[in-house]
This record gives sequence, C-alpha cells and structure tokens, in this order.
Amino acid sequence: MSVSDPQQFAQAAEDLCRYGRILYGNNWSPATSSNYSVRLNADTCALTSSGKHKGELTPADILAVDMEGNALTAGKPSAETLLHTQLYRRDENIGAVLHTHSPTVVLLSQIWPEDQLSITGWELQKAFAGETTHEGTVTFPIFANDQDIARLASRVEQTMQEHGQGVAYLIRGHGVYTWGKDLAECYRHLEALEHLLGYQLELLKIKGERPL
Ligand SMILES: [Zn+2]
Repeated sequence: MSVSDPQQFAQAAEDLCRYGRILYGNNWSPATSSNYSVRLNADTCALTSSGKHKGELTPADILAVDMEGNALTAGKPSAETLLHTQLYRRDENIGAVLHTHSPTVVLLSQIWPEDQLSITGWELQKAFAGETTHEGTVTFPIFANDQDIARLASRVEQTMQEHGQGVAYLIRGHGVYTWGKDLAECYRHLEALEHLLGYQLELLKIKGERPL
C-alpha cells in the first residue's frame, strides 16, 4: 500500500497538521473531534486518523485513503471518512474538506427548528466562493445526526442532487462540513460560516427569540 507521489502526500500531511493547530486553537475541534482532508489526485485524499488530538497532530497522524474510504497507508481512517470522499467524488474542483465541532455550530444546529438555515444581508457572505453581494441568500442544510455514516453520506448526496451543492452543511448537535478548492479557501469558508452563524446565535439572544 502506498501513495503515487510521496512528496505531495508529505506536504499535504504537514498542511493538515498546521490547520489542526489553528482549528484546535480556535476551539472548533475539542476532545479529539473533527477531521480534515486534502485531495491528492482523482482517486486519493490525505485525511486525519481517527481519535487524534487536533492541536497536536504530527504527519504520522495523517493517512491516505481511496475514494471508497479504504486506507492506503498506515493508520485508522476517521469514522466519518465517507463524508469527505462523497464530496471529492461528486466535484473534481473540491480540493480540501474541513469538518469541525465549534460551540456556535453545535449549539445553533441543535436549537434551530428547520432543516435548513438561510442567511442574507451580511457582507461576510462574500467570503464564500461565487458570492458577490450581501444581497444574496446562502443556505446551509441541517441533517439529523447519524452514527451510520454511509447512510448519512447518501442523504447528503441526495440533497445536493436535489438542491445544489452549496458551500457547507450542518449536522444537528454535531458540527459542520465545508469545502473549497484548497485548504486556504476551505478555511476561509469555515471562518466566514463561524462568524455568520455566530451572528445568528447572538441575534436570537438579543431579540429574546426562542426558535424551539
Ligand atoms: Zn464529527
């Protein structure tokens, strides 16, 4: 078992470790949760191993998997690997995927009564690739949490086929998946989403609304 370009894999592993330190430092990946990946080619991606402290990742904690989620190098793939490969399989322009468990996302997704959350009127929406104005509407689907990851991945795929791919989705009481052409764009999407959903949570408090 091996990867076709070991140097590229080593660079991807280093990049994922670096982003792990940032994401853990932001309090978005507590208690070994979360997983991150980078596409290596059409058939392979580099992905964090299961159960590692995300602020202390080393290249040994990154493995290569094929698009069916099978390990190609040493290590145990994250339990949620199929949610990464579902994205890489459907869109060749996706080069990186970040999945995190921030307090804002977990809390808001838990109390939000609808199965999607739409935002409009915020300048920071323009941080999402393809969005050019605050006047657009950005919609995040919210899926019920599910320990059967294959079932959840097919539900995500079906929703994307019916309603479009979007830029991110939430899993209720669990976290968020977002993606981009590379890690830098993906991180920008995640950072924008954290701020935008943080505004929603604060608004609920300010207005004293109870969405439940
Ligand atoms: Zn998770």
